[in-house]
Amino acid sequence: MHNKIFGWLLPVIIVLMTVLVWAVASASAALWVLLPCFIIYALFHLVHLQRLQRWADNSPKGKIPPLEGVGVWKGVLSNLYIREQKLYKRDARQRQAIKQFRRLTEEIPDGVVVLDKNNCIDWCNTKAQEWLELEGNKDRGVPVHNLVRAPDFLTWLNEDPADDAGRFSRTLVLRIPENSGRACMFFRLPFGKKGHILLIRDVSDYEKAAQLRRDFIASVSHELKTPLTVIVGFLETIQDMGDDDVGNKDTRQRYITLMQQQASGMQRLVEDLLILSALESGQHREEEQWFSSALFLRQVHENVEVLSQGKHNIVLKESCGAELFGMVNDLSSALTNLLSNAVRYTPEGGYIEILFSVDEKNRALMTVRDTGIGIAEAHLPRLTERFYRVDRSRSRASGGTGLGLAIVKHVLIQHQADLLIQSTPGEGSSFTIILPATRVQKVIQRNTA
Ligand code: ADP
Repeated sequence: MHNKIFGWLLPVIIVLMTVLVWAVASASAALWVLLPCFIIYALFHLVHLQRLQRWADNSPKGKIPPLEGVGVWKGVLSNLYIREQKLYKRDARQRQAIKQFRRLTEEIPDGVVVLDKNNCIDWCNTKAQEWLELEGNKDRGVPVHNLVRAPDFLTWLNEDPADDAGRFSRTLVLRIPENSGRACMFFRLPFGKKGHILLIRDVSDYEKAAQLRRDFIASVSHELKTPLTVIVGFLETIQDMGDDDVGNKDTRQRYITLMQQQASGMQRLVEDLLILSALESGQHREEEQWFSSALFLRQVHENVEVLSQGKHNIVLKESCGAELFGMVNDLSSALTNLLSNAVRYTPEGGYIEILFSVDEKNRALMTVRDTGIGIAEAHLPRLTERFYRVDRSRSRASGGTGLGLAIVKHVLIQHQADLLIQSTPGEGSSFTIILPATRVQKVIQRNTA
């Protein structure tokens, strides 16, 4: 009711009262009625105006403060308040959406750069800043090709226009910093009106794997090429030989023996490759079991005596016995590989030891120690790489494939075991397999044999 009074009723009452007083009394009496009423009415509006101004000046961070009025002001102020509340809610929703977008782009493992239609940076996430060495706000508005200065990048930006649907078809792989750093794959996606998003993915691991694959294929081809060339050469020579000459028969026999040696080398290589690929792919998984270290070591010792053919003094020393858990055939082939190397790289009459012990952490240590040619320290970290050899011709001459230690490494990975290599050129080497405590049981003290 008082809204109506302060709305249109009050001015009408004032006017009627003024007219009435004027009619009954005088004009000056009417003026005395009108003046205070006018002042009160004006004050009423001034108070509301001031309230409105204070409300408008106050830009709230949280909730919008209520805005209430009386009379004509009630409707005006409440409409204003409702509208402002709607705007505030819409703003809050937008702020939340932007926050979520940013959080999302920080979570994904890719770099994200938002570009406008002129390829100028609008926004970028932390990964993009780190990888492209951008400086957040400072680089805003700067053309991205001014900051990523690889020529290939500029060509890619210019030469891959979007199709009718705004999509880009080509990707680019680039090392950043150029030639040396991280391998990054760049994609572009349409975004907003004519803008786009630059997605940057770290593909260093894929690149490394691809490079390893290429190197591996090159190494295998190279390993096979030499024996094949030798075999083909001998075959051609044999073809050109006369049948009846007795001397030719001896030469032919010698050539056949040499060809057989080359073919055996290739066969060993293929066998080792198959073992390695089965180990790497995890296809070949023998059942794990508990087995006695004593029986295991005896068996390996016998094998290596056969390999050495009595040319070395081979001794087995066990400081204790233990039950070991693992793939017995794979572990046996790993230890035999180490022993076969000891035999091949130790001159005749040399001394080879097989040592077994369990350390204070309950780990089993199996060491193959020789008095052979030894290895310079610089080679040690790379010895277990495929086809890595210190002396290629010596390895080949002794029937090596360059894969023995790579096979050992893979067998040990499957057993969570480590390989410790120590060597002094001219004095000998020692290779120790360290089996973790979880695979070792029942340590039985016994006297050294
Ligand atoms: P390979 O078939 O050539 O012996 P491995 O992978 O078994 O290949 O060994 C890699 C290289 O490590 C060998 O070529 C050799 O140079 C070196 N090596 C391995 N074991 C010994 C050892 N006991 N004494 C000296 N050098 C060794």
